[in-house]
Amino acid sequence: MVEFPPGEEQHICAICREPFEEFDDEFASNYANLVCRTCDERAVNAEGESAKFGPHDGQGDNPVFIDGVKCWRRIRFGGAITRKDEFDCDSVGEFHRKHRDDYSDR
Ligand SMILES: [Zn+2]
Repeated sequence: MVEFPPGEEQHICAICREPFEEFDDEFASNYANLVCRTCDERAVNAEGESAKFGPHDGQGDNPVFIDGVKCWRRIRFGGAITRKDEFDCDSVGEFHRKHRDDYSDR
């Protein structure tokens, strides 16, 4: 069961549970288990180094780990959109399949 599935309002960060300041409700509802920027800044890669991203989607470290929790990023508008993984997925494709019902593999 995804805690914050896409299509439903999400007001708090999936990691720290603080209310979002940087995302409005409509934006957050587009993503599963969205993570706030403050948590995202703590993200490290599998080697424990500060996680890099971008500049384009599919580049940079993925997955990343925040407080030991696996998360997947996508790059949008020059910034990272980071989502918490509830199922320990092996790829961002698997993350999408398991966290959103509307996902199709195209
Ligand atoms: Zn947070």
